[in-house]
Order: sequence, then C-alpha cells, then structure tokens
Amino acid sequence: METIERTLESQKNIALVAHDNQKPALMRWCARNQDTLTQHTLYGTGTTGSLLRKTGLDVNCLYSGPMGGDQQLGAMIAEGKIDVLIFFWDPLESMPHDPDVKALLRITTVWNIPVAINEASADFLIACEYFGEKFVTQIPDYSDYLIGRTN
Ligand code: PGA
Repeated sequence: METIERTLESQKNIALVAHDNQKPALMRWCARNQDTLTQHTLYGTGTTGSLLRKTGLDVNCLYSGPMGGDQQLGAMIAEGKIDVLIFFWDPLESMPHDPDVKALLRITTVWNIPVAINEASADFLIACEYFGEKFVTQIPDYSDYLIGRTN
C-alpha cells in the first residue's frame, strides 16, 4: 500500500493503559513525568484513567479495557485521534481480553503509532525531542478507498 505523511502536532494525544500488575509502574512513570504529560491531551482505559485522575492528571477515561476500552482506543488510532500509546501490558498473565490486547498492539503497527510497552521504552519515548515537537510519520494511504466508499 502507498503511504502518505501524517504530522503529529507538538501537543499530542496520548493513550495510557496498564494491566493490573503493571499499574504501579505506570503510576510511578506518570508521577515522574507529570510536568511533561500535562502539556498533552491524555486518554486512558477506565481503571487506569481513574487511578491517574486521582493523582491530578486530566485523563479522558474510556471504558475499562476488558469492557471494550482497548477496542475504543484501537478505533481512535485508526481514525488518527491518538498519536502515542503508552501500554504497560502484563507479559506474565493471560487476560480475558487477550484478543483485544493483540488487536490494540496490531493497529498501532498498522498506523505507525509510537508505542512504549514498559517503563524503559516509555522513558526513551518521552526523552525524545519529538515528544514535544511536531513529528512527521508515514501512514497507509487509504484515501482512495475512503473516497470510493462515500461516492
Ligand atoms: P483498565 O484496562 O485500565 O480498565 O484496567 C486496562 C486494559 O486494557 O486491560
């Protein structure tokens, strides 16, 4: 498939998700990076987002992951509404919504979204100069299909 450019604005739409065993790590990471995160628009799956709201972060809460929150995020990524995914998933436990977890990670790859899956990769991502600046990515050029569909 051909690709086209997509510009991620300097103020990013960031999705924050953590499985239960990883929530302490994400809380810790968000606390360490609160000043940077407040400069962006934040989204979170239900439980993760509610916990982060209690720390003072303004997080837009979606449904809880197992109740469809991961799928909501996947749809937002496909629609270009999420720029960065911070997803501390649990590598040691299977989840009732494992298909949704796989689908979320898959769709980030399809749409070439920067993803961090643990504290170290999240540290790398947030330290990157592009985190707070415009960044041009390549995404699938899907426009012909969409035009054909609406005519
Ligand atoms: P939660 O969902 O934030 O509602 O716990 C996380 C997940 O996607 O499993």
